[in-house]
Formats: sequence, structure tokens, C-alpha cells
Amino acid sequence: PVYDFLFSDLPDGALTSTAVIDAASGRATTYGELLEQVDRVAGALAARGISPGDVVALHSPNSPAFVALFHGILRAGATVTTVNSLYTGDEIGRQLADSKARLAITVGVLRENMAAGAAAAGVETVMVVDGAEGHESLADWLGEGRSAPAVSIDPATHLAVLPYSSGTTGLAKGVMLTHRNLVANVAQTIGIITLGPDDRVAAVLPFFHIYGMTVLLNLSLFARAQLVTFPRFDLAQFLGAIAERRCTYLFIAPPIALALARHPLVAEHDLSSVHTILSGAAPLDGALADAVAQRLDCRVVQGYGMTEMSPVSHAVPADRTDIPRGSVGLIIPNMVCRLVDPADGTDIPVPDEGMSEPGELWCLGPNVMTGYLGDDEATAQTLDADGYLHTGDIATVDAAGAFSIVDRLKELIKYHGYQVPPAELEALLLTHPGVQDAAVIGVPDGDGQEVPKAFVVRASDDVTADALMAWVAERVAAHKKVRRVEFIDAVPKSASGKILRKDLRTR
Ligand code: ATP
Ligand code: MG
Repeated sequence: PVYDFLFSDLPDGALTSTAVIDAASGRATTYGELLEQVDRVAGALAARGISPGDVVALHSPNSPAFVALFHGILRAGATVTTVNSLYTGDEIGRQLADSKARLAITVGVLRENMAAGAAAAGVETVMVVDGAEGHESLADWLGEGRSAPAVSIDPATHLAVLPYSSGTTGLAKGVMLTHRNLVANVAQTIGIITLGPDDRVAAVLPFFHIYGMTVLLNLSLFARAQLVTFPRFDLAQFLGAIAERRCTYLFIAPPIALALARHPLVAEHDLSSVHTILSGAAPLDGALADAVAQRLDCRVVQGYGMTEMSPVSHAVPADRTDIPRGSVGLIIPNMVCRLVDPADGTDIPVPDEGMSEPGELWCLGPNVMTGYLGDDEATAQTLDADGYLHTGDIATVDAAGAFSIVDRLKELIKYHGYQVPPAELEALLLTHPGVQDAAVIGVPDGDGQEVPKAFVVRASDDVTADALMAWVAERVAAHKKVRRVEFIDAVPKSASGKILRKDLRTR
């Protein structure tokens, strides 16, 4: 079980060290206090009839309370389904109904949306962490002083969490992850993402998404590091807290890298405590990674994963300085992967030197999900008979085994028989001084063909569409030229940091 793996051999000395700090107030919770809260949350849940097999929805921005509630639900043997804080009432209702949640936990600021979702899904019990009339609060639960029930579960099959995928390409899917899946991913990554008790980790990635859940709620606590929680990403608050609390390690997604590389506020803060930044969730271009590394004078590395893999399958090991910039690193221990030609299903060979041909990445390991909740068809399309997960991402590998993600298979733009990865054009556009942000999709050109179209947020009004297209054309093969440009105010991105190309398509 996750709880036993993370906390059962905590030495007495560790109980008094800090586990979680609220960035805004500076309020600190020690490991001892956290474990006591976890115990009481589990006891309170059991007293309300929650038992192993029940699903509890957790809907809250990052906070110290989230940490206690998440591990408390697991400790009670129940399954947590984490709900995106940006979801509307309808979206919450869909997740509650789909996951068959028995109880929902929310916070005051998100309460209206949860109330609407819970009503639609027929979920009766809603706990409001910070109190609200007619509802129980976390303080009530802790005050009862009940202890965790004795539960016995099979970690290999018992569902620990039901996170939903980001919904980047369609409706978010409920992903079934067992205790063994989550424990495996911590064990697989602790030697690569080397965190320790001296690290202070900026917990700005949302806990509800699998990336923040695993690297912050599980990996960082397993390493006995300190989590500094931020309810949302606000650049000024983020930088101020890193400087004030002397954060050493930042887990981020590319939109934060963009801000760290470019924003003038960065120069006003002392960020010298940061030694490593790990970016994941979406492509981070090598040039952008370098710009951040130089500006903050720290290491910037990437990892790759997906909800279906709990989530990490690739990362740049802490002791490897030879991995090319832009690469997502090596396959992690106790996993194997294949690069498969999507056209004929044959394996693409690892080259003796240089880079391989691109292929779809397939991964196998103990961190791979058992399936999509209630969707056997989608499960069968994604997990093959040998247990390989077909990621839907196109990657290349070099002779040293370092992988690079090209793009999602489904996002490749088909231009006259050529395949154009939008991520490559986006990265190029971002190097133009007049471009603040950019996203590229394929749009129909009227002849039954798709052409690359760029949506650009301008850094200055003098940049014209023609000039940008000419600038790109000088730098790419003819079939990759951007053939349309539209200026927009902001690129739509998900809470987990991905470009929402489907929103651009429906504009
Ligand atoms: P949905 O499956 O609902 O459409 P999603 O795939 O975005 O949404 P997640 O599981 O959050 O949901 O994201 C996994 C995807 O994120 C991967 O399949 C990959 O496309 C992308 N990704 C993750 N890390 C990286 C990375 N380092 N570089 C490029 N892409 C990445
Ligand atoms: Mg996906």
C-alpha cells in the first residue's frame, strides 16, 4: 500500500522535520503532524461508512490540507478521484458519476461548482475542507480524534487513484491506477530524480493531475523533502516564495519555463537556492531549456510520461550531463519500451550513431495502468496483449538511449503526404523576438489538404503575418512552412500545462 511504502519506516527523528509549508502563510506541518492528520482523516472516513472499494472525490487547489486528505483516503483503503479545480459543475458531475464517487470533498472557493456537480451525479455527502454552513469541515474530522481502521488490500489489484487524463485530445478518461502502480513509479524514479531531506520543493503543479500527484505527494514525501504548496500559479507569488523559502527543486510544465526564461520579474528575485528544474507534461524546446538554465544558473532537465503510466516512463538521470538538450532522457528502471513504425508495426532500430527514425512509443512496466474505467474498448486499443501501453506519442532515440518526443501521433499535420509536427513549429516560432507564445494546428485548405496554421501571441504590434511566415520559411523544409497566421490574445492551455489545440480547432 502507498501509505506503508511511503511512511512505515519513518525514523523518529524525521517526525519533527517539516513536511509541508503553505507558501502564502508560511505555516509548517511536520511529518509527525501530517501522519497524525492522515490517521484521523482515515478514521473519520471509516466512521462515515467509507470502506475499501469506495471512491472519494477530492476537489481542491494545492494546500497542506490536500496532502493530509489524499493520504488519509488511501489509508482508509478507499480510492481517490482527484477533480480538476478548473472544472465546471457539468464536468464535475460527469466525473463523479463516471467514477461512482460516494463522497466528495471540496473547499469554500470551489463549493458552488461542486454543489452543482454533486447534485447532477446524485452524490449526497460533500465535505467542505474550510467549513461552510451545513457541511462538515476538516477541523471537525481531525477533532474527532479517531484512528485509521485496519484494512487489508491487495496492492497489486486495489485501485489507489482514479485520476482523469488531461482531456487534451478529447474527453478526459478515468485511469485505473493501483497501489502497486503508484509505489512502482516512486521506486523507479527515486534514483533518477534525486531528492532528499535537504530539498525544498515548490509544489505549484496541481496535485489533482498525475504529474503533481506522483512527484509531489508521493516522491517528494518519500524523499522526506519539504513541499511548499501554492494554490495556483501566480508568477510574482511563485518567485517571491522560492526566494523567501529557499526552494531548491522546481517541478514545472513548459508554460512556467516560458515565464522563467522571459519575464522581467524573474530578475528581481534571488533564485540562487534552486539547483534543479524538471519540466514535463508537454514539449520543452532545448533552446528554451537552455535559456532558463542560464538565467537561473541551474540544471534544467525533462521527464516524460502520461496518466496511464502513473505517469513517468522517461527522465534525465541526475548524474547524466551527456543527454542532449531537448531530450526527455532514458527509459526508467524496471521498464522497457519499443519504438514502432505506425505504418507496419515493425520495430525501429536504435542507431549506432545519430538519431533513429521516428516511431510510436510503446512502454511496459509495473507503473502501467490496469485500464480505463468503464471503457474496455479504449483499454483494448491502448494496452496490447503483451501488456505494452501504446502511448500515441511519436519519439526518436539516439545511440545512447536518450529519447526525444516529436509530437502526438494524432496531432501530426498531414501536408501532401508529409507529416509536420506542430510542436517543432511552435518551438521555432518561440525563438522569434516578436513572438510571446504560439500554437500550431492543421487546418483544411479547401483542396482536401491540411496546412499548418499558427496562432500567435505577439510581443509587439509591428510583427506581421507575412513577415512571420517568411521568417519560418527561411528555416524549415518547404512542406513544413506555416501557411496561415492568426494573432490571438492568449494560447489556450490546460491546468496541466498543455496547449489545447482542440479549442483552437473550434474557434
Ligand atoms: P488526453 O489523453 O485526455 O487527451 P493528455 O494525453 O494530455 O490528455 P496526460 O496524461 O496529462 O493527458 O498527458 C500525457 C501526454 O502529455 C503524453 O501522451 C504526451 O503527449 C504529453 N507529454 C508529457 N510529457 C511530455 C514531454 N516531456 N514532452 C512532450 N510531450 C509530453
Ligand atoms: Mg493522453
